[in-house]
Amino acid sequence: MTPCPQCGGALIGTSADWWRCTTDACPYEMTAAAYDLYAELSAMVERDPDAFFEVVRAHRDELRALEPAWLR
Ligand SMILES: [Zn+2]
Repeated sequence: MTPCPQCGGALIGTSADWWRCTTDACPYEMTAAAYDLYAELSAMVERDPDAFFEVVRAHRDELRALEPAWLR
């Protein structure tokens, strides 16, 4: 189970579309699509942190290399 990104508590699916944190004081909620992405990326970083951060760096460099929209 992937923990809450804010407090580390347990996340539960409250409906088909939403997940929320079970810790009383924590208001963290996310959509099911965001949860799926979060779980996928968390699994990836646990499996192979170096490969994960390589992907992140490549994505960052790609975005930085783009021409700003206001200069197009
Ligand atoms: Zn939480």
